[in-house]
Amino acid sequence: MAIRNIREFGDPVLNKPCREVTEMTPRLRELVEDMLDTMYEANGVGLAAPQVGVLRRIVVIDVTGEDPHILINPKIVEKDGEQTGSEGCLSLPGKAGIVTRPNHVVCEALDIEMNPIRLEGEELLARAICHELDHLDGHLYTELVEGDLMDANYEDADEEEAPGGEA
Ligand code: ZN
Repeated sequence: MAIRNIREFGDPVLNKPCREVTEMTPRLRELVEDMLDTMYEANGVGLAAPQVGVLRRIVVIDVTGEDPHILINPKIVEKDGEQTGSEGCLSLPGKAGIVTRPNHVVCEALDIEMNPIRLEGEELLARAICHELDHLDGHLYTELVEGDLMDANYEDADEEEAPGGEA
């Protein structure tokens, strides 16, 4: 297992669009494994490749800690409803802000074997999917925050009670 360095707000790599994955390679498999390790180590609910400095359309998401999703070239194909709540990002540690997102999304992507998959999410999973996909286009949740960024203290919060988690 390898933990990669998480790029933080202000790093220009976070504002660049990512390229599609056309072929799964040993190097990209290693990247995906490292992204999962890095997300769990940081107690995050999601991580996008640009957050570890790689401009490829790859995200990992796990909102329960027991249900990892690997999404290659993901696209949101349906969205509906609305949720307004606290959101954080591993690239802005210790910060949170109020963001409105769809309450339900359907995402099409490829899995690690480059087979098509469909992931449907509600509430926190829908929020995490939207947040991670924004990273692939160089966007951060700070662009969507209503009001000011706040200090969050996820480390002291029980995981079950943490409002949104960082992604
Ligand atoms: Zn993020």
